[in-house]
Amino acid sequence: MSNKTRIENGKLIVPDQPVIPYIEGDGIGKDIMLPSQKVIDAAVEKAYGKSKKIIWKEVLAGEKAFIEKGTHLPDETLDAFREHLIGIKGPLTTPIGEGIRSLNVALRQTLDLFVYLRPVRWFKGVPSPVRYPSLVDMHIFRENTEDIYAGIEYMAGEEKTKKFRDFLINEMGVSKIRFPETSSFGIKPVSKEGSERLIRAALEYAIQRNLPSVTLVHKGNIMKFTEGAFKNWGYDLAENEFGKQVFTWRQFEKIKSERGKMDAEKALADAKKAGKVIVKDVITDAFLQESLLRPFDYSVIATMNLNGDYISDQLAAMVGGIGISPGANINYKSGYAIFEATHGTAPNIAGTGQANPSSLLLSGVMMLEYMGWDVAAEHVYDAMEHTFSKRFVTSDLYAQMDGATLLSTSEFADEIIKNMH
Ligand code: NAD
Repeated sequence: MSNKTRIENGKLIVPDQPVIPYIEGDGIGKDIMLPSQKVIDAAVEKAYGKSKKIIWKEVLAGEKAFIEKGTHLPDETLDAFREHLIGIKGPLTTPIGEGIRSLNVALRQTLDLFVYLRPVRWFKGVPSPVRYPSLVDMHIFRENTEDIYAGIEYMAGEEKTKKFRDFLINEMGVSKIRFPETSSFGIKPVSKEGSERLIRAALEYAIQRNLPSVTLVHKGNIMKFTEGAFKNWGYDLAENEFGKQVFTWRQFEKIKSERGKMDAEKALADAKKAGKVIVKDVITDAFLQESLLRPFDYSVIATMNLNGDYISDQLAAMVGGIGISPGANINYKSGYAIFEATHGTAPNIAGTGQANPSSLLLSGVMMLEYMGWDVAAEHVYDAMEHTFSKRFVTSDLYAQMDGATLLSTSEFADEIIKNMH
């Protein structure tokens, strides 16, 4: 039987022994990759005995690739991800020169990984700055290919910038550039297709997992044709494609204006009782406040690239910091998915055994879930919770916890394996 994961009729087919390409990563990548793989292997064995097993295949990127191949992102690496669909990566240093702004962005754009999925949940025992971290359970769908992050920027003073500025002023009649001679420019493309595929993925995810709501987070009050359009396209898509599976705030407002508030409240209550996904929207700044004050009101979040970047780190901080929060770059259509630690290469602690492997490990757990190997994923979740509850932690959390036991990266991974019941 082939070891290649594939897509058939829109469905992911994962063999019992899939080859999973992995990029070790720079800096602490070396410290956290092997211990994380050890935990994942142990969980798979615990769940499925010898009937399932991951075949790890190292592929190069970052500094290691540059030393061995003379480039930070060799074609073989991209080919391996294309061949096997699913992969995992440690953090990578952003290379200077070579025309690449960021290896992560290059991977996302080349493989068109349009969703950046960041689940945010709290593990019992992990120190948190909020009073009730257990109320935080959100799943952020951040658009990964568009918005101001598309990298279309022009630096003040450069020839192209002057041409662009003159076009805006002379051809488009723009008169609102406050300081035209010294302005830089950035372009924010937000498309209907790009918004729809992201919001569709968020809605399908919520429906499959019986989650209560999808919230569209945007600054459409100010940026009407980009962020405002994202919201409107989202409501259109939810109502047109998902019909009776959802109930939107736009429908609520319509009933309210036609038949009054009581009828609208009743329709909402009926929709909740029927298990429909409630689709709503919130302005980004209000969301940052609301998610702190009323986190239980939010479940799946669908948002654009820049908003998603800010929101992800705030929510991660609420459950104990980005050191333990995982992420995944996914194209649900082609099946391509790269799971990753969300922190950087932490050069200040690389090689010291102090790194916390939880972010990479939890991204591996997301990978198991994506593969449909949920029993193995549950084993890791349970064992991690058990380990944190016993206050066995790495140095980043040790400093914030009374009565904790300090473990090195590999000791922490071994402790999780020991706690796999
Ligand atoms: P960083 O995340 O590497 O480090 C910030 C702080 O957090 C440091 O004090 C570090 O010691 C600590 N830290 C990070 N991960 C940790 C872990 N797992 N366990 C314990 N402590 C941890 O951010 P930075 O210093 O801004 O960036 C360093 C490099 O990483 C840069 O080259 C940057 O471009 C790159 N980077 C890569 C990614 C990625 O590949 N996904 C993400 C962010 C930054």
